[in-house]
Amino acid sequence: MPSPRDLLNAAKAEIVEIDPHDVAARLDHFTLLDVREPDEYEQGALPGAIHVPRGQLEFSIEGRLSDKGAPIAVYCAGGTRSAFAAKTLQDLGYRDVVSITGGFNKWKDDGLVWTTPRTMTSDQRIRYHRHLLLPEVGEAGQTKLLDSKVLLLGAGGLGSPAALYLAAAGIGTIGIIDMDVVDASNLQRQILHTIDRVGMRKVDSARAALTAMNPDVKVLTYDARLGADNILDIFDGYDVIVDGTDNFPTRYLVNDAALLKGIPVVHGSIFRFEGQATVFNPYVGPCYRCMIPEPPPAELAPSCVEAGVLGVLCGIIGSIQAVETIKMLLELGDPLVGRLLTYDALEQSFRTFKVRRDPSCPACGENAGPIQIAEYDDLCMPHAVLV
Ligand SMILES: [Zn+2]
Repeated sequence: MPSPRDLLNAAKAEIVEIDPHDVAARLDHFTLLDVREPDEYEQGALPGAIHVPRGQLEFSIEGRLSDKGAPIAVYCAGGTRSAFAAKTLQDLGYRDVVSITGGFNKWKDDGLVWTTPRTMTSDQRIRYHRHLLLPEVGEAGQTKLLDSKVLLLGAGGLGSPAALYLAAAGIGTIGIIDMDVVDASNLQRQILHTIDRVGMRKVDSARAALTAMNPDVKVLTYDARLGADNILDIFDGYDVIVDGTDNFPTRYLVNDAALLKGIPVVHGSIFRFEGQATVFNPYVGPCYRCMIPEPPPAELAPSCVEAGVLGVLCGIIGSIQAVETIKMLLELGDPLVGRLLTYDALEQSFRTFKVRRDPSCPACGENAGPIQIAEYDDLCMPHAVLV
């Protein structure tokens, strides 16, 4: 019967060990893999290391590291567990694995750079468990969501479902701008609000709903009209803007301010039984002005008159906006950049249309002048009001 020492020697005979300094000199080359227990990892780790405890390696590693040819440097506290882990990885088909001699302890003693990883509380691990099970999200992604700031324009039909799902997903800071009060006629679709909050400021009602659902979320409220005078200050520091506004002048204003600040806008709109959504990623894809250079005449523009809408349609489009927001934050999948998704509730059908950047776009085109943030008139026209 082999002793633990025999097993270790056998493992070491089949793997390559590397000095910490050789790894530190080529940090860009290696994917660092920390196989220690969570409490060890939380106290300090190598910068950018992936953390998979040794006991979970066989079951979790393929979800975290799919490229079996990538150079991997494994470490533990002293170099023993990482030697076994390196052997296991080789057995699983990973072709370029090394174990760091002396592990994290030697790394630290040698004065090499390490960090204290941002980790989640045990309550958060329970709350976001189903996200953590997704390798594409995982602890790193969830932590990123918790550090993210998303601004919702409007706590109405689209803002309500988007806000609820983004809060549930653990977006750490959610800003909401809305200057209305809750009205009984809102409740058919604006599911952030309740009958006992009729008459309350919408931003306060929204804050009550979101913090009751997830105490991790900090809700910042702006009980104001979004205008040229405040938009740049309000947008400052947000990672993504979720646009649920219902009129052309505000959308042009939002577009220009977002371009200036370089913040992606997840756009949604609804009318009767139809909705649409797209993502405007500044200077990567088209902007709102590329897609709609001129609004329809006021009498034909659905947003300029009070139109009927199937309440649940808001839930579908607002939820698509929440999905796209999370994809943008986590750089996941194929966001709706340069694609307009349309939904017809009566046909129960989705369609996507390509939207291209317009080289002559007055806002993001090649020869566009400096962006001006200006007020627009109430006639749904994209022209600045001359004052
Ligand atoms: Zn444009």
